[in-house]
Amino acid sequence: MSTPGGPGPSRLDASLARGSEAEGPERLDAGVEHELRARLLRESGLALFGHPVLIALIAALAWSDAPHSVLLGWAVAVVLATVIRAIWLRLVMGRSLTDRALRQGVRLTVLLLGLAWGVGAAVVVRLMPIEDVALVLVVLAGIVAGALTTLTADPPSFYALLGSMVVPLFASLIASAHERVYLVSAAVTALFAVAMGLVYWKAHIALLEHLAVMGRLALSDATAKRERAFLDSVFQSVPDAILVVDREGRMRAANPGFATLFGYSVAEVVGQRIGEALVPPQARDAHLDLVRRVNAGETVVAEVERRRKDGQMVTVQLAAAPVVGHPGGARLLVYTDLTARKRAEEAMRQARDLAERTGRARAAFLANMSHEIRTPMNAVLGFVELILDTELTTEQRRALELVRSSSEALLTILNDILDYSKIEAEHLELESIPFDLSKLVHATSSLLAVRAREKHLELLADVPPDLPRMVRGDPTRIRQVLTNLIGNAIKFTEEGEVVVSIAGTGMEDGQARLRFGVRDTGIGIAAEQLTTIFEEFTQADASMTRRYGGTGLGLAISQKLVRLMGGELAVTSALGQGSDFYFTVALPVETVAATPGSQPAVVVGRRVLV
Ligand code: ADP
Repeated sequence: MSTPGGPGPSRLDASLARGSEAEGPERLDAGVEHELRARLLRESGLALFGHPVLIALIAALAWSDAPHSVLLGWAVAVVLATVIRAIWLRLVMGRSLTDRALRQGVRLTVLLLGLAWGVGAAVVVRLMPIEDVALVLVVLAGIVAGALTTLTADPPSFYALLGSMVVPLFASLIASAHERVYLVSAAVTALFAVAMGLVYWKAHIALLEHLAVMGRLALSDATAKRERAFLDSVFQSVPDAILVVDREGRMRAANPGFATLFGYSVAEVVGQRIGEALVPPQARDAHLDLVRRVNAGETVVAEVERRRKDGQMVTVQLAAAPVVGHPGGARLLVYTDLTARKRAEEAMRQARDLAERTGRARAAFLANMSHEIRTPMNAVLGFVELILDTELTTEQRRALELVRSSSEALLTILNDILDYSKIEAEHLELESIPFDLSKLVHATSSLLAVRAREKHLELLADVPPDLPRMVRGDPTRIRQVLTNLIGNAIKFTEEGEVVVSIAGTGMEDGQARLRFGVRDTGIGIAAEQLTTIFEEFTQADASMTRRYGGTGLGLAISQKLVRLMGGELAVTSALGQGSDFYFTVALPVETVAATPGSQPAVVVGRRVLV
């Protein structure tokens, strides 16, 4: 009918697994409940066959002393109750009854059986000699004792059995108490019932505790198994190659990523020495050093070459660390394949080299071309100047002046391109010669004074008296930058002033930090164009070219020159209000031997040039 045996961990484990999706204590309770229920059914079935046998025994032994009809009636009642209980159990097996229905069924059938025994016994004991009564009492005591185990899972069932057997019997014994021996039997029965009740309760509690402990064990075992399985699948799924090596350098475990990277199957490498399998001869020393460091507790990350099974080398990033808390001194090695990254880096390097070579070739070509064009252009200009000095008709003069201004514009563009190409091709070297700051600013500004005057602009040079007079640097390049900035300022200003200034912003290791600035009251530059105007061939507005001319190279060249001198050309500007271009460079100060009574060559201070 059912399998005998106690609630082993495996069965409880299965109960837990079926119990519920819940975790922890809830899951444990569900497991215990399930086991109690299973036990109740199992054990109930087990003891059933005892009842007909026992009643038959009593009937046989008391046959000569008690009325046969009573004995037979009792036996029939017991057998009937047993059959009802057996049928009910059979019906219930394999059905998913609710807990409540199941327990109620068990209790009812047990009560029925108890009543059959108890009421039968109560009737019979009054009709029997005392020896037979003793036999009945022993049999009933045996049944109750047996129920201690068969009904341990459900106290109401047990108490129903106990009560239904003992109460009628006790009443009948008391009723026959005119003989002392019956009174004693009643007392013994009552005592026995109370003792059984207590023993049962202890057994029930002990069972609950036992199941809870077993359940907890099964649960923690199941959790540990799940954790282990999870960690194992993480280990298997890592795309990098993972290897565990023992203290002697023997490979102990590897993941599929390792097999993919090195071409060995996992089973093949386990037990092999890592040094022999993976490390190429030329890398042995470095490998030993790495092992030593890891054994000393260090985590080492290095880019290394390792050998695949097919003999091919593979560049990998190796991260090696001791396995924390492992007494055997195992090491964990993680290899990341760098082949793809190396290939990409190489491709990028080649592309960059090519781009640099192309850039240099283009700049060199531009430099050569503009140089070649500039020489005849100078000759053209020279001859135009010569012819302009001769007698000419008005018509001819106008035409030639047009030729001259066009040639000059062309020459400016050529010079820009030449400079730019030189800087790009890295041919441009800065000079380092002493020069007079104030003279430089005034001379540069004066050169452009004519253009300012033509546009009725005020051109001012602002050189404070406390500036160092002589500094060391490249005056030609500073002049070139200033010329470009002043030229632009005049070009983009219709009325107002252009101020060229220098200011000392401090001394550092014998070098004066000098801020050069060119400010105008011209058209200004829109905020969104402030950053792009320093790029090659960029103008704030495309219509500028038509209106003001220019190549868009001037600021790009100036920026490169200023950067070569260690500064940065910057601008602040507001549309319609003007612009302020400035840069700061540090130039070594030249000491000038003071001659008594000598005057500075150029007047310093704010000076109106136009
Ligand atoms: P170019 O003057 O030959 O066009 P630049 O590189 O010198 O080239 O100047 C780039 C652009 O920056 C000019 O076209 C103009 O739009 C703007 N810009 C430069 N200086 C000024 C200025 N002082 N005021 C307003 N706009 C300026």
